[in-house]
Amino acid sequence: MTLRPKSMQVDLQGVGKDYGNSPALRDINLTVPAGSFVALIGPSGCGKSTLLRMIAGLEHVDYGEIRIGARSMNDVAPKHRDVAMVFQNYALYPHMTVSENLGFSLRMARRPRAEAADRIAEAARILDISDLLDRFPSQLSGGQRQRVAMGRAIVRAPAVFLFDEPLSNLDAQLRVQMRAEIKRLHQALGVTMIFVTHDQVEAMTMADIVVVLRSGRIEQMGPPLELYDEPANAFVASFLGAPAMTLLAGRIEVGPDGLRIENDSGGYLALKPGLATGASALVKGRACLLGMRPEHVAIVAADGADPGSDTLPGKILSVETTGLDTHVMADTPLGRVMAIQRGRSDLRVGDRLALRPAPAHLCLFDAHDGSRLD
Ligand code: ADP
Repeated sequence: MTLRPKSMQVDLQGVGKDYGNSPALRDINLTVPAGSFVALIGPSGCGKSTLLRMIAGLEHVDYGEIRIGARSMNDVAPKHRDVAMVFQNYALYPHMTVSENLGFSLRMARRPRAEAADRIAEAARILDISDLLDRFPSQLSGGQRQRVAMGRAIVRAPAVFLFDEPLSNLDAQLRVQMRAEIKRLHQALGVTMIFVTHDQVEAMTMADIVVVLRSGRIEQMGPPLELYDEPANAFVASFLGAPAMTLLAGRIEVGPDGLRIENDSGGYLALKPGLATGASALVKGRACLLGMRPEHVAIVAADGADPGSDTLPGKILSVETTGLDTHVMADTPLGRVMAIQRGRSDLRVGDRLALRPAPAHLCLFDAHDGSRLD
């Protein structure tokens, strides 16, 4: 294969960046293993694009070191870093055909004509755009333009692909399709990919490793489902997942059947069995947030009897159906709780019900710094 990638590891050690007074990135330590697919995710302004641009060499590294393979990149010009970046706005040359757009970087690098032709043909084949090579960008759909933009990166056979929100300009259906295509591309090329997105579904579905950033710091990184199941803090817990995890505020108390969370309105719920107070973080009276994912909250009939300390009585505030499942929001003595029921439902706004979260899936966080307590 002409476009055999080298697939290198990317290391960031103590990387930081200041714009004027405010630090955009602080003490970033991250290893992207060779051949892996890493998604950088976080709310707008958290520093993910800056981080990607620093790896590409488009932003100066103020602190720390960036290495690709064994080589420090801090003082290496972008074109010598062996990386290729795919931008959100495609950055195609409008006056050039698809073929010329694909071959532009090879021409600049003075690659032999026959080799360039081979690479263009292979990239076009990989991306299924061979029949579009003579068109101009204005004659392409959004998805086709995005493919050409990826093709421009592919022809260079870089050691690392960098994607800066490449799917944001596409409609929802095309985004899903391109997600699968990029993943397929990653599998076909086996090359290191770093992907910036603010869309947690994109990150969860595509990446081997998800890195959650907030205010210039890494909050947590790991395999997508590990972050989803075991969030290190309340921020990661509420950022990943749609609908989001419910977080109920209260304080830790000791009830007749073990630890519980309680609030001043008389609401309470038993915590995961097996938790104990003592020297641990679970001290009585500590202000905390109890997290439960909507898919782990069962809706049970409210029959008037005392529901027990593992169940919250509630009244339905809203019922939304996606066709596939039903999202039920209810008011409970501990606050608003979201529950997802598979399939259709006869529940109506105003109905009384009882909500039973699966105890093993409850997460407990400190109310002040959001750190995980259980
Ligand atoms: P994200 O990609 O996560 O939305 P950015 O990396 O673009 O975030 O920005 C991180 C922070 O750095 C933000 O506070 C942003 O305002 C700031 N910033 C980004 N680029 C510049 C710049 N060229 N000059 C000054 N501040 C910048």
